[in-house]
Amino acid sequence: MLTELKFDTPVRFIRGIGSARAAIFASIGIETAKDLLYYFPRRYENRGAVYAIAEAPDDEPCALVVTIDGMPSERRSKNGLLYTKVIATDGTGFVELVFFNQRWISKTLTKGRVFRVYGHLERGLAGCTMRSPVVEAVYEGRQLQNIIPVYPLVKGLTQKIISDAVKQVLPLCDQIPNTLPEEIIREYGLVGKGEAVRMMHFPTDMEKLDRARRTLAFEELTVFRLALSKMKSLSRQYKAPKMDYKGTGIARFFASLPFSLTSPQERTIKEVFGDLCKDTPMMRLVQGDVGSGKTVVAAAAIYFTVRNGYQAAMMAPTEILATQHYNTLKKLLDPFGIKVALLTGSVKQKEKEQIKQALAQGSIDVAVGTHALIQGDVEYKALGIAVTDEQHRFGVMQRATLVEKGEQNILRAHTLVMSATPIPRTLSLILYGDLDVSVIDVLPPGRQKIETYAVTGEYRERVYAFIRKQIEMGHQAYIICPLVEENEELNRKAVEEYAEELQKNVFSDIKIGFLHGRLSSKEKDKVMQEFSSGERKILVSTTVVEVGVDVPNATVMLIENADCFGLSQLHQLRGRIGRGKAKSYCILMSDSKSEKAKERLAIMTKTSDGFEIAEADLKQRGPGDFFGERQSGEIAFKCADIADMKLIAETGEAVRKIKSIEPDSELYKAVEQFFEKTKDGKTLN
Ligand code: ADP
Ligand code: MG
Repeated sequence: MLTELKFDTPVRFIRGIGSARAAIFASIGIETAKDLLYYFPRRYENRGAVYAIAEAPDDEPCALVVTIDGMPSERRSKNGLLYTKVIATDGTGFVELVFFNQRWISKTLTKGRVFRVYGHLERGLAGCTMRSPVVEAVYEGRQLQNIIPVYPLVKGLTQKIISDAVKQVLPLCDQIPNTLPEEIIREYGLVGKGEAVRMMHFPTDMEKLDRARRTLAFEELTVFRLALSKMKSLSRQYKAPKMDYKGTGIARFFASLPFSLTSPQERTIKEVFGDLCKDTPMMRLVQGDVGSGKTVVAAAAIYFTVRNGYQAAMMAPTEILATQHYNTLKKLLDPFGIKVALLTGSVKQKEKEQIKQALAQGSIDVAVGTHALIQGDVEYKALGIAVTDEQHRFGVMQRATLVEKGEQNILRAHTLVMSATPIPRTLSLILYGDLDVSVIDVLPPGRQKIETYAVTGEYRERVYAFIRKQIEMGHQAYIICPLVEENEELNRKAVEEYAEELQKNVFSDIKIGFLHGRLSSKEKDKVMQEFSSGERKILVSTTVVEVGVDVPNATVMLIENADCFGLSQLHQLRGRIGRGKAKSYCILMSDSKSEKAKERLAIMTKTSDGFEIAEADLKQRGPGDFFGERQSGEIAFKCADIADMKLIAETGEAVRKIKSIEPDSELYKAVEQFFEKTKDGKTLN
């Protein structure tokens, strides 16, 4: 037995954990006693809430206290399973308890004994049944644990192994210092951190558990927000090229645009110019729905920068999008003699070298390309601004790593981030706490609402007929296949087979193209080219078309298995149509029986407001699904639920109240640790 347990004691010194188990623990990131303390249960079984059989819920597990009311009967099924059944009652009704392959159980379940049983109650015509419940004998003097933690498991670990190990390190809770200042803990009704950690593992009642969770979530969000505001002030220590309006002829640029700006566009551009005229780096996010006209904001910023004698870089997440930005910028900036170049994977090596050289010499003003290329070994003569079209990546981590501490007076380019993911305002305050945010919340005039329908597979024939009619009218269509997990190869197959099937059996006289992640960028370009020129009328695709593609002649989008997509993603996809003058239609096909799925699709048919959709999405699915697999890791909080608007508001208030943070205080260390972890590329916890 251990004499002196410390936070950094390796777990193999804990009773019950040998080197083999220690290796399993290590595989889930638990190496020390402290790691174990912070390995929280995923959920809890509330066995303390005992129901009467007559009133017990049948849609979630519940606890009953029952008396055995007969002799257990045993039966063997054909495949050799042993079934044990027994009737029990609590005076309000009867329940049949059923066990599989538990040889010993009939000896325990003797008539007249009292048990607490916990499981799913099924109500059938023949009465109530509970299969494989947890049974605990109830008798005088026995203290049953009411709230049972359920830990996330991996192979080789059981609930018991984990809770036995946790029990041994629990005394360390007394030594956990508070991260949050005492005043904050008191004011917001939180508990001490050690107490909170203890309650997470062995809660004595639900109310205490809630307080514990709230305490840890509060700390997590507060530290995150403090870290972001620290990032903000750190980034302001750098120097950036200070520009001004003089000689830019900006009015001529505006006059050259084929449309007049919407008022949020105008406001945003003004804010951007204001930033560029300061000698600290701009760190601004432009948030605007698909089609709200963010590109022209970027173009204006780039024009302004080049006219001030600096270069600009514009990064996009995909080649298709980079190429599109390149074409747009070229059209807008060429007339002013501004040189724009495209740098993507499909540009020939020789040409790439030439462009890089020209950028280093300053004979090219603007480079447009994919992130990897532009961020690689490209050198600029005088980079003034980097514009990133993030679409829906969040990049808190990348931004954190950009902020190297202590490097003052280093010249930095201004940064403009454009995000097409509308997220609830409160949430963007958190995730982008280190950035200044401009929101473009009005669409350019003349946009038509996209008619959206949610239908079942029964309508398939009619939908195909409708697509055919639209094509006969001279329009084009997208058909989106459901994404098969993260497996690109399966996606390729799904798309190709479906396209072939449609080509053969449904649209034999219509030219169909297909697009998926496995195509080379050359092939993708070719397909997009053929679709956008109208040569191919239907494009069968995975969600790769989601980002940015602009084919105004496309008026229909059929989305297969629409329930598999997140609302925000559906919204992004839908944004590919309704870009021209003709009325557009989006058909969401789904055979899902789930009420929730139906509700979600109904939201799509009712609104086209990205912010409203985002809010609904976040509320319904929680942050993990809202941001999607890939991003959620990046902003994964251990305890905090970022859909919890009250918590968000309160932590915002708390952050404002924390005026100064003493160096060496626990809070200071926690904020520092945030940077350490982000540097290692880990998640926020
Ligand atoms: P996003 O915000 O999705 O990047 P874009 O910048 O691609 O949107 O703009 C979408 C379309 O709207 C483009 O064809 C663009 O030319 C057009 N557009 C942008 N601003 C305006 C405006 N103020 N008036 C009319 N059309 C506009
Ligand atoms: Mg865009």
